[in-house]
Amino acid sequence: KKRVYKFGGKTADGNSTMKNLLGGKGANLAEMSAIGIPVPPGFTITTEVCTEYNLLGKDKIISLLKNEVEAAVAKVEDIMGTKFGSNENPCLLSVRSGARVSMPGMMDTVLNLGMNDNSVQGLIAKTGNERFAWDSYRRFVQMFGGVVLGVGAQSKEDHDPFEVIIAKAKKTKGVELDTDLDVEDLKQMVTDFKKACEAQTGEPFPEDPWDQLWGSITAVFDSWMNPRAIYYRNMHGYPEEWGTAVNVQAMVYGNMGNNSGTGVAFTRDAATGENIFNGEYLINAQGEDVVAGVRTPQQITLEGSKRWAILAGISEEDRKNKYPSLEELMPAIYEELNETQDKLEKHYKDMQDLEFTIQNGKLWMLQTRNGKRTAAAMVRIAIELLEDGMIDEKKALLMQEPTKLDELLHPVFDGEAIKAAKVLAKGLPASPGAATGQIVFFADEANKYPISILVRVETSPEDLEGMNIAKGILTARGGMTSHAAVVARGMGKCCVSGAGAVQINYKTRVMTIDGKEYQEGDWISLNGSTGEVYEGKIGTKDAELSGYFGRIMKLADKYRKLGVRTNAETERECKVAIGFGAEGIGLCRTEHMFFEGERLIRMREMILAEDEAGRREALDKLLPIQRNDFKDVFAAMAGLPVTVRLLDPPLHEFVPHEEENQKEMAAEMGISVEAIKQKVEDLKEFNPMLGHRGCRLGITYPEITEMQARAIIEAALELKAEGVQTFPEIMIPLIGTVKEFKLQEEIVRAIANKVFEEKGDTIDYLVGTMIEIPRAALTADKIAEVAEFFSFGTNDLTQMGFGYSRDDAGKFLPIYIEKGILKADPFQVLDQEGIGQLVEIGTTKGRSTNSKLKVGICGEHGGEPSSVEFCHSVGMDYVSCSPFRVPIARLAAAQAAL
Ligand code: ADP
Ligand code: MG
Ligand code: MG
Repeated sequence: KKRVYKFGGKTADGNSTMKNLLGGKGANLAEMSAIGIPVPPGFTITTEVCTEYNLLGKDKIISLLKNEVEAAVAKVEDIMGTKFGSNENPCLLSVRSGARVSMPGMMDTVLNLGMNDNSVQGLIAKTGNERFAWDSYRRFVQMFGGVVLGVGAQSKEDHDPFEVIIAKAKKTKGVELDTDLDVEDLKQMVTDFKKACEAQTGEPFPEDPWDQLWGSITAVFDSWMNPRAIYYRNMHGYPEEWGTAVNVQAMVYGNMGNNSGTGVAFTRDAATGENIFNGEYLINAQGEDVVAGVRTPQQITLEGSKRWAILAGISEEDRKNKYPSLEELMPAIYEELNETQDKLEKHYKDMQDLEFTIQNGKLWMLQTRNGKRTAAAMVRIAIELLEDGMIDEKKALLMQEPTKLDELLHPVFDGEAIKAAKVLAKGLPASPGAATGQIVFFADEANKYPISILVRVETSPEDLEGMNIAKGILTARGGMTSHAAVVARGMGKCCVSGAGAVQINYKTRVMTIDGKEYQEGDWISLNGSTGEVYEGKIGTKDAELSGYFGRIMKLADKYRKLGVRTNAETERECKVAIGFGAEGIGLCRTEHMFFEGERLIRMREMILAEDEAGRREALDKLLPIQRNDFKDVFAAMAGLPVTVRLLDPPLHEFVPHEEENQKEMAAEMGISVEAIKQKVEDLKEFNPMLGHRGCRLGITYPEITEMQARAIIEAALELKAEGVQTFPEIMIPLIGTVKEFKLQEEIVRAIANKVFEEKGDTIDYLVGTMIEIPRAALTADKIAEVAEFFSFGTNDLTQMGFGYSRDDAGKFLPIYIEKGILKADPFQVLDQEGIGQLVEIGTTKGRSTNSKLKVGICGEHGGEPSSVEFCHSVGMDYVSCSPFRVPIARLAAAQAAL
């Protein structure tokens, strides 16, 4: 079995289609190499080895890999004309992790591997640049120590020992920049760094390059199982089996002097999607310097540089002198880079995110991948690539990440409120959107307030979880490609980065801007689209839904086969949903109409009544209220079908539990508090979710069903008289046997006929049922003989199919997911393997006896992309989801159909 794939010298064993085996980075390095783009030679150890490693352990894996890796290193030495560990012409390597999708939280890259007291002399001999050689050496010890040996700060308040040593060296010397340290300082630093490592690990720093290499390779595999990586995987639902690949590659140096540099670039704007080449670079820098926010990075293009200067408030004079663009500084290199980015985008037919290094005036490409982008950029880029004929409509749709659309649907700052707001500072518009919240300074405290803004000097991969919890992120340092910016864009989270005016004191937990102090817990607001930071809490309003987004939605509608409806009870929800393209209501939960004001009082009267007569009296008062509610909903959904579910929850959810309310209720009804208490007591159930609810209510109290059926039919007829078309679909909940359905259906139809007679007019309506009890799914053929439609209530179906109480599962589900018993929360992502079978059986059996049966879904799953795909595959007619998920469902339905 082949475990190692080589690349470099314009050839490669692998290619870009092999992402699962080689990881994204490895596959693209191979591809770039094969299409003739200058890539430093190297090799990729496959993701399968990661899985083997977890089974077999370190020693076994090394012996399995030894021959192939040694041969591959020899090939690199060959191409580069260097020798691993040599004191004349050393071969130095980088070791990089790379899963099939790019994943923060994985091991950081180790650069300059192969450095020791021997090879540093070799590097000096080869380059004649003593300072550079020692700088590379000290970077290596620092990286290897931090990343592979795990040397670092021992607590949150503690400092990183390497940083302490650097700070001390600068202080002794009286200089401010790393670049002001000389050879002697760097030599001393190497010694001090090694000592710091030994102090923490108890073992001498490894000098043998092969020990260094195997240590790094296995550290990459270990990092696949570290908590940060696991957290990120779980957040995105990536399975553990994927594993990560390891990329080992010859080093190229951006830190060889002023004719060298390093940078990152995007072939289009990752925030807005605009088709402009853009990116950042630093002269005489290596690796992560650009993204680490240590020095202020410069813009690659002249145009970008000018834009940046305006945002940053820097004069043209200063810009030209201190922060010139690469286009101005190295025109030939810029030209080559520009051609390369164009070539790569055309090759991959998508926006690329590139890493490059310039070594002594020669350009090397170190990475390319489909760039992470905001939702706004995602829709714009797809539409523009489509317009340019680079991709077809199907590809444009497949490029969309349905859940990401969410970003476009959420509020922006209220126009008026924002005018009055005070701008405190300006940073870079790192990730668009509006956020308002209370300041926290530590990622692990992001949940200290209900809505928080994480304020940091800069963020690091450990902050991932807190960044996800916070509403927005503000950093004092770092550019558009800083960690905070990249991660925030990936999460679709508002982020302002590099707000230089912000000073942060972690100890006192105070942020200072222009002399004014802001404490932890103070409110601030961020505009991630402009980079502005505001004082206080600012109101927000809904987003616009036209433009590129609208065009993607139109395309989705062209290809999807599934209908998309919404779950809604109020006029407002209906309007929002229609704005998002809902084609009807799939679930209108009538009980939601009873939870407030007079409705609740009448409802309680009905429940607490002694007998049928008392109930009827209360129901008579509820009828007009309910009828009006239906009229509002039907009118808002004019011309579209509306599925109304009859009363479903256990009655005790409506009765007063507080003494205070019980007294009020008693007075209202003219009975004793004791009587009320007794009634409430009577309604208590051991297991309410399996108790007296759903159609069981309508069967024991038929008058409830009668009232609801009457309200629905009367509302529809009244609207008809006003010229408004309605299509009510009356849905009986929680059927387990066909007989239950028949009894309820009879009542509904009898009432409907009676109302038709009274009003002298009729309407079309359907009577159908929820399928949410496993027995109903299994006997669906019988039920479908009488029911006109099915709607799978996958929340209850999951609850009853798994036997997990929806309200109690929070205690164990996270552990189940952690232990790998479940891949995802089955209440969010439909369990296709088990519960999915019930859905499939229900659909097939139902259609076997009623070919006209309409089938839909109305659980939470109706707006979850993988579940929508499943609904498509079992041949449902529509999905129904909450209003904000409607666009997501439309897109997911289109993708399912492609
Ligand atoms: P990440 O996945 O975090 O981007 P990378 O493996 O791409 O990690 O590497 C981190 C940094 O190190 C990048 O800036 C990259 O350009 C740099 N780097 C990686 N390999 C080399 C190399 N062979 N020569 C020079 N720089 C390298
Ligand atoms: Mg990294
Ligand atoms: Mg990279």
